[in-house]
Parts: sequence; structure tokens; C-alpha cells
Amino acid sequence: MDPKYIRNFSIIAHIDHGKSTLADRLLEVTGTVSLREMKEQLLDDMDLERQRGITIKANSVSMRVKHEGQEYELNLIDTPGHVDFQYEVSRSLTCCEGALLLVDAFQGVEAQTVANAYNAIEHDLEIVPVLNKIDLTHARPDEVKEEIEHTLGLDATEAIGCSAKTGLNCDQVIKAVIDRIPPPTGDPKAPLQAMVFDSVYDEFRGAIIFVRVMNGTVKKGARIKFLQAGTEHDVVELGQKTPKRTAKPSLSAGQVGYMVCNIKSLGQVHIGDTVTVARGEQAKALPGYEEPKRMVFCGLYPSDGQDFETLREALGKLQVNDPSFVFEPETSDALGFGFRCGFLGLLHMEIVQQRLEQEADIDLVQTAPNVTYKIQKKDGEWLEVHTPTRVPEMGEIEEFQQPIVRVSFVMPAEYVGGIMKLCADRRGIFVRQEYLSPTRVMLVYDIALAEVVYDLHDKLKSTTKGYGTMDYELRGYEPGDLVRMDILVKNERVDALSIVCDRRDADTRGRAVIKKLKQEIPRHMFEVALQAAIGTRIIARETISAMRKNVTAKCYGGDISRKRKLWEKQKEGKKRMKSIGQVDIPQKAFLAVLETG
Ligand code: GDP
Ligand code: MG
Repeated sequence: MDPKYIRNFSIIAHIDHGKSTLADRLLEVTGTVSLREMKEQLLDDMDLERQRGITIKANSVSMRVKHEGQEYELNLIDTPGHVDFQYEVSRSLTCCEGALLLVDAFQGVEAQTVANAYNAIEHDLEIVPVLNKIDLTHARPDEVKEEIEHTLGLDATEAIGCSAKTGLNCDQVIKAVIDRIPPPTGDPKAPLQAMVFDSVYDEFRGAIIFVRVMNGTVKKGARIKFLQAGTEHDVVELGQKTPKRTAKPSLSAGQVGYMVCNIKSLGQVHIGDTVTVARGEQAKALPGYEEPKRMVFCGLYPSDGQDFETLREALGKLQVNDPSFVFEPETSDALGFGFRCGFLGLLHMEIVQQRLEQEADIDLVQTAPNVTYKIQKKDGEWLEVHTPTRVPEMGEIEEFQQPIVRVSFVMPAEYVGGIMKLCADRRGIFVRQEYLSPTRVMLVYDIALAEVVYDLHDKLKSTTKGYGTMDYELRGYEPGDLVRMDILVKNERVDALSIVCDRRDADTRGRAVIKKLKQEIPRHMFEVALQAAIGTRIIARETISAMRKNVTAKCYGGDISRKRKLWEKQKEGKKRMKSIGQVDIPQKAFLAVLETG
């Protein structure tokens, strides 16, 4: 195929603005998928993505369309719309020459519209603004056009108004892709140079990689080399998704497609790697391969200790599909055997947990999530710490650093005060404020990631009655006034309950945890002291007084069946108790505490 007749593009949008629906409509309008075959949201393959309506993995689909007597190949490269998967977003954008910036004509510009658009501008993409949902009677396309021009500095006079739901003007969108997005450059005769922008795991075929060929041509049967990984493979099959995998004899400069190379696991494939030939003239590596950064960690424990091996297997299986998620065994006095897991972000963590519960049918206990800290000890050594219990004693610490993120909020103007207060309470540093329109505002703050992880998103939603949106990017690590706070039950530290927090929040958080524990731990024959401590300094304390009477005394007289029931219930409860020292702590108590953050 002559690159002149190829167009590579993505659709970028804030969540729910209609990206998946528009993708479906484009497949339909181009006849790639017949009405009969059409099931909603073809691009979102994975079950969980369908349920949650979000795209996790990038994906691509090739369409053929006749335009003014000429056949064109349009490759739609889907990008994960969420910050957790920022690296993948960047890789997918590198494979495109243009992007449809899809904005809900009622909702207007939102936090991820801005983040995604900036990203596309940075990649020098031709951006075509598209206003979706103009079928809605309360759509306000003219104002939204102004928001786009004002916030992003893009010319929106030729923005296309469409309805992905009814199909109205979707043919115009296709026309704009062909007319306004430039064709790829690249030489089909040059040495092979292709960018790996995604990979998926197939039970029968192993890792399937998705590539954008920048230069050269790759044929079935070729011996290829990954420049970054240094590994060589035979191309067993290659082709394009239409949207089913359709084999082809070759892929050449400008094209997007998949390759099957007998690669056993996704761990062997690096997103961002460059493919060239194993023999003959090799191309140079394309810029940028990065290890994905795990930003958020938590412990995952089976509720029932017997599920430990099942959990290990399930985690292993998940990792085959998603190498950006990591885990290692960990033991906790309180929770027994489990795993410490690392994620790209909060959404990623939620997705993994949900998948485990659904696919492996294991009940999980999850400890409070924490970020990665960088700690310099007095002896000069630097540590990277993913678990609060691994934080050294305060006396040994020279510098305690935490990740800082730049958060952008978009909201109706009346909530600005509320969000400013929210950020101030979390020691955010104001960066700027911008009016997108007379009624909508963007606020930018630098805040510790730990605060974002703690509850920022929930608080944003409650403060703005659901109308506010946010997005964040990592700025780097900065020293903070941080401490490790421990919880002691009858003078013993409960490892699963240690947290790292700002020194100024320690009192409040310590008191909250202890209060909750006091409610949840039953009385014993002796007094039980509950304490929150920083090092040896106690910052909060509560006491559960000793039990005076036998519990069966409550059942007056002879109702033996009732007594028996009570005993049985206690036995049952006993099973789910963990003992710390001599104190039995019901698992429910851990959960209750973890819920407070
Ligand atoms: P995504 O998160 O950007 O992929 O958004 P979806 O494609 O999942 O769409 C989100 C919601 O908006 C769904 O309920 C769609 O049915 C609805 N939607 C998408 N496009 C339109 C449209 O043009 N008009 C109307 N009225 N609703 C739409
Ligand atoms: Mg979607």
C-alpha cells in the first residue's frame, strides 16, 4: 500500500464522551463490520473493560474506505484514556499522524480532555476537534467550541458536530480523517524499523505484538530482532485487525498491524521497543523505551489462609497478561501469608483486584495503599520503600522523600472555593487557575501522590456533586515531613496497620484508627491497651476494659438452644480471629480500620 493512501489516527477523549461508541460507528460507516456483526463497543475486548466502560489496553483496527475513487486504509489506534496508563498512551500516539479530539457537546472540556490534547500536541499530531452527542437537546456546541479554543488554543471553527449514537455526521468524521490528517512518511524499501505499541496474550499463540511500521517492509517468515530486548524471533503470522485478526503476506512503511512470533509471555515484550531484521542492514532504535513505573503498592491477602496457593497462581496468570503489575510474597503477623503488589496507579489497582475476585473467585483483604518512598539513611544509603513496615526507625533517617504530582481539576466555577480548601487541607501548592469559559474553571495544584491516593478523587466528587474531574502527572520526588506511624495492641506492633503519613496528620489519623479498633475488638479477660505511636512516642491511646461476666449469662435461665447457638457463633467468629500477643482480633477489625484509609 502506498503510504499516501494510509491514515493513522486515534480518538482522544475524556471518559464517557463517546470514544468507544464513535469507534463502533466508524467501523459501521466504513463497512468494516456489517450491521449484523455489530455488537456494541467492539474495540473494548476485555470483559472488565466492557463492564467498566474504560479502555485499559491500546488496540487497533484497520478500515478500508473508498474516497473520491481511491481506496484508503484508515488505522484507528485506540489509546487507554487513563493517566495510570500514560506510558502506553504516549506509545500509541507515536504511531499516529493525527487524532480526533472528541468532546461531549454538553459536558464540554474536562480534565482528561486537556491532558490528552496536550499529549497529542506534544507528539505533533494534527488534531481534529469533534463535538459528540449533538443529538442531546441540551447540547451547547458553540460554547464548547469556545472552551476548546480558549483552553487548548486549537482552531475549532471547523469542528465537526456529530452523534456517535445516531450516526449523524459520522461520514463527515471519516472525510475529515482523510482530508485533514497527513499520510505517514516512511520508505517501504528502507531497512525495517517498527515500533511496538501494544501486546496482548493469547492462550494458544502466546504474546501477540502490535506494531507500527515506520520504515521498510516485514514479511511472513522473516527473522526479526527486538533492538531493546536483544532477542530474535521468526514471524509466524502477521496481519491487521479488521477487527478480527486477518493474516496478510506483509506489512510496510506507514501500516499498523500485528505479529505472532512464538513469544511465550508478555514479560518478554517491551512496549516502545523497536523491531528490525535479524540479518542484513538494521535500522536504528526508535527513541524511548521505559520500564513502566509502579506508583502505588498494597498488600493482598486471601481472607481464608488456605487460598494462598490459589492466589499465587491467579496473580501469576494475571501478570502474563499485564506485566506492568508486579507482586512478591509477604507475611504479616496480622493477616498471615499474602503478597505485596505494585500498580501503575489507583485505577490499575482496582482493576487487578476486581479481576482477581472475578476470575479466581478468591475473597481478598487489601491493606491500605501506599506510594513508593525514597529514603536516605544517616549512613548515606538510599532506600526505595514500598511497605510502611520497611521504613527504618526515625532516628536513622536523614531524608524522607515522596512523589509529588501535578493535579488538574476542571469544574463549574461555583466549586472553586471548595476545591481550593480541599487542596489546602492536603498541603497542595497552587500552580494556576484558568477560566475555560465564564462558568467553568481549571485549577492546577502540586500535591503529594499519597494524598491523591488517600481520598482526593472521592472528595473531589463529593465537593463538586460529581461535576468535577481531575487528572495528574508525576513531577518527581521531594523531601517531606513524613513519619511512620505504628499501631500497638497490648504493646505489640500490628504490622499491617503501620502507615506513612505527614507528621502533622499523624495525631488525627492515629486517633481515628484506635477508635475504630476499640469498636471492633471484643473484650478479653484482661485489659487491652490500644496505642498509636511514632517511634517510641505514643500519640494516641484507648483501653478496652476487661470482661466481667460470662457472655452466656445474658441468656436468662434455661434456653439451652439459644445458648448453643451463641457458642457456635463464637466458635465461628473465633476462626476468623487473628491473635496478636494474647489478643484475638477479628479480621473484621482490620477491614474496618483499612476502610478509614
Ligand atoms: P467512552 O468512555 O468515551 O468510550 O464513552 P462511551 O462510548 O462508552 O459512551 C459513554 C456514554 O455516552 C454511553 O452511554 C453512550 O451510549 C453515550 N453516547 C455516546 N455517544 C453518544 C451520542 O452521540 N449521543 C448520546 N445521546 N449519547 C452518546
Ligand atoms: Mg470506552
